[in-house]
Amino acid sequence: MPHIQIAIDGPSGAGKSSLSKAVAHALGIIYVDTGALYRTVGYYAREIGLPAAKAEIIPIVDHLHEITIEVKYENGVQCVYLNGENLGDRIRSSDMSMYASAVSTVPEVRAFLLDTQKDIAAKNSVIMDGRDIGTVILPDADVKIFLTASPEARARRRVQELAEKGMPDTYENVLADMLRRDEQDRNRDVAPAIAAPDAVHFDNSYDGFDEAVEALTAVIREGLAKKGKEI
Ligand code: C5P
Repeated sequence: MPHIQIAIDGPSGAGKSSLSKAVAHALGIIYVDTGALYRTVGYYAREIGLPAAKAEIIPIVDHLHEITIEVKYENGVQCVYLNGENLGDRIRSSDMSMYASAVSTVPEVRAFLLDTQKDIAAKNSVIMDGRDIGTVILPDADVKIFLTASPEARARRRVQELAEKGMPDTYENVLADMLRRDEQDRNRDVAPAIAAPDAVHFDNSYDGFDEAVEALTAVIREGLAKKGKEI
């Protein structure tokens, strides 16, 4: 099989992770969730008592040397270890979403996580999702997708996801947090969450998951074929 790099970017709740996982399965490659890395640094920031705010989280820079992050695949599932401990779903709460968004505005944090992401994609065929994959992490990706959906559809999905993980939150809270996080992600100075000029835009506002997987897989296969990489 040829070495393949697929970049999936877009705002939170657009369905990046569930669609990417399904496409990874269909193509027989690994799925890399880069948001989990920012969430892990965010988790550490909370551990040391920093607030989840853009300006006040900057001292995390002085603590990055205390952090070791490892990404492992266990039964095909990505597990992120912080200083030897698998954090599991502890990084998935709404609180951790805000921490992740806050630490991700710090250039030193982004630089700290750069090699981990590039290494995984160099050693494996991947479909990698995040905010700057097509623009910064894998600028030469074979296929770049920018996934979007209406804020309402995205908030509905997040509410369901949180409930399934036993961390329920209201639709109103989730929507407000999501809009705040989008704004922060889009407007930060480093690696703002925007589409790469050569990305294919894919709207995932509709509900049929299987249809979306099928349509996205077709777009990706087409992109790969153009690069002479058929799988
Ligand atoms: O994708 P997820 O919602 O888990 O990401 C959490 C936060 O991490 C995002 O809101 C964003 O601020 C940040 N992030 C980022 N770059 C990435 C992935 C995530 O800045 N590649």
